[in-house]
Amino acid sequence: MYDIQQIRADFPILGRTVYGKPLVYLDNGATTQKPRQVVEAITNEYYNTNANVHRGVHFLSQQATELHEASRETVRKFINARSTAEIVFTRGTTESINLLAATFCQSQMQEGDEVIVSTMEHHSNIVPWQLQAMQRGIRLRVISMDDAGNLLTDEYERLFSPRTKLVSIAHVSNVLGTVNPVRQMIATAHAHGVPVLVDGAQSIPHMPVDVQELDADFYVFSGHKVYGPTGVGVLYGKEAWLDKLPPYQGGGEMIQHVSFERTTFNELPFKFEAGTPDYIGTTGLARALDYVSALGMDNIAAYEHELTEYALQRLEEIPGMRIFGQAKERGGVISFLVGHIHHFDMGTLLDRLGIAVRTGHHCAQPLMTRLGIEGTVRASFGLYNTREEVDALVAGIERVSKMF
Ligand code: PMP
Repeated sequence: MYDIQQIRADFPILGRTVYGKPLVYLDNGATTQKPRQVVEAITNEYYNTNANVHRGVHFLSQQATELHEASRETVRKFINARSTAEIVFTRGTTESINLLAATFCQSQMQEGDEVIVSTMEHHSNIVPWQLQAMQRGIRLRVISMDDAGNLLTDEYERLFSPRTKLVSIAHVSNVLGTVNPVRQMIATAHAHGVPVLVDGAQSIPHMPVDVQELDADFYVFSGHKVYGPTGVGVLYGKEAWLDKLPPYQGGGEMIQHVSFERTTFNELPFKFEAGTPDYIGTTGLARALDYVSALGMDNIAAYEHELTEYALQRLEEIPGMRIFGQAKERGGVISFLVGHIHHFDMGTLLDRLGIAVRTGHHCAQPLMTRLGIEGTVRASFGLYNTREEVDALVAGIERVSKMF
């Protein structure tokens, strides 16, 4: 079923060398590599079907429109949304959250109203709310976590007040790997009559996600982290909620009729899609979702789980190893420091061995402050990584450690 060599053969870049060493790509949390199926679909559309969507009567435009709207259906099915009206294409997670922050705060929040986020959020789920705080005087409440990286759910319940208007939390932490109990957290929020936005940037590539089963009001993710192209992402929103929100940007596509006296807006989801969409990108995203669906999200989750367990076990054998993120439920993201070796030095020296990891604060500076550190080295796995690559990482860390 899960033939790792066959899978790796779909990703040409995995065959290259770096500084004369075979590439060991462990920066999948930042972005994933693309299978031939995705790259070829993109090339094929540019070569054979390229035309602007939604506006042309001509053959190519209709074909491109059909492809683009079929991609929306692929996304709908992938996350089990009720309707394609609930699938808004954006540039990625960041734009999805900014869209929601701007339109939700404008229409649903007053000065003094509150949004609950958590300590472990990516900056893209903090700063958009802070921009709204500056403009509209809304406030942020923050769920703390324990030292293992579990959110304090008792404290979460106590953060609700009559001023709470939204909860916005990551499904999986991009630093700690914690899989947050979003289903229960959504149920808690709903008991207070509060909707929830889930940042799925680090969950969508690694586990099956069913937005109806979670009962998420909004769910966002990026194409490039799920083996699709850069520059395309998704905002899922329940139709009833999206209907209540005003447009985000103005332009072509998002209108029904324009006059200087009065302009009316298009129906969902087009109301939120001003301008020419990245219709080639949506094709790439759809082929990426087809690719992971063919492997099976359950199979990918099981494979990566086993690989992560192996990696944790091997890494813990290294003297001086400190792993940040020991939550009970965790995904394939491992942040660590070894002895007093600076994360940047470790990353740079691993790179010379062909091993690509990320170093720094991972766009989660409040979390770094909570952990009392400035940054970590982060290895993050994808569906194509192997035990041999984990062994290479461990050998690399041991070699770097000896140098210090
Ligand atoms: N949220 C999380 C949890 C992430 O890991 C990332 C990407 N590192 C983002 C949001 C932002 O995603 P993008 O840069 O694709 O918009």
